[in-house]
Amino acid sequence: MINSGKVSGDYATLDGDVYNHMVRVLRMGSGDSVQLADENGNVRCGVIEQVTRERVTVRISSLLDNAAGDSEAPRITICQALPKGDKIDLILQKGTELGAHDFRLFGGCRSVVRIRDDQLTGRLERWNRITSEAARQCGRSDVPAVSWRSGAQEAADDSGQELRLILWEGERERTLKEALALQAKPVSVAVAIGPEGGFDPLELRHFTRQGFQPVSLGSRILRTETASIAILAIMQYVWGDL
Ligand code: SAM
Repeated sequence: MINSGKVSGDYATLDGDVYNHMVRVLRMGSGDSVQLADENGNVRCGVIEQVTRERVTVRISSLLDNAAGDSEAPRITICQALPKGDKIDLILQKGTELGAHDFRLFGGCRSVVRIRDDQLTGRLERWNRITSEAARQCGRSDVPAVSWRSGAQEAADDSGQELRLILWEGERERTLKEALALQAKPVSVAVAIGPEGGFDPLELRHFTRQGFQPVSLGSRILRTETASIAILAIMQYVWGDL
């Protein structure tokens, strides 16, 4: 998803994570056709005109109707603290099948696994291959992008979604059912899920300061991969296309 502020007239100039995903992961180049969805649900079709070391310039040819009309499921971003081992493979594969729009992975305070800078490009390529393969297998026309943030603060700060939830087993007031019932169908949703050790209090505070509402999934403590898959299925059932 791009920020609509990156569009000026008939051109979109893309950098940062979107650049990395397009150029480094999907290996796109001049002449390739692209579809660019923004936070307002607009989808612009265009062709890559120029690729430099930091920017991609897309010449826009058409603007599709608001693709997130009432009949469309919300665009769901899974903000997932990195879990141990290959659990992330399951989360990415099942989340893709369940219609996640994109995955924003981050290093949680209590994440056991740490990613060194020199490992990041390879891991992003691998994670995006998992979502590409899962999308192909389940017949999706779009492929959820997988991006990385170094910590919870960066993951929380970067959220322009209309509805933001953080799954927290310590929440006693608000159940997920109440949170969804109080909310008209959003265009976009971000959901934060902690690693095996859960969220650190500072992380929880930062997410809530960025508008993430803590919600409970009930009295049982779910594994991080179970919680991630369950919240997607529930939201797709309530607002989406399940
Ligand atoms: N800190 C927890 C413990 O050991 O007591 C474990 C965290 S749980 C394994 C991993 C993540 O799944 C949590 O950070 C939370 O995001 C989510 N989660 C699991 N069970 C949940 C529940 N009942 N309500 C809300 N979130 C839950």
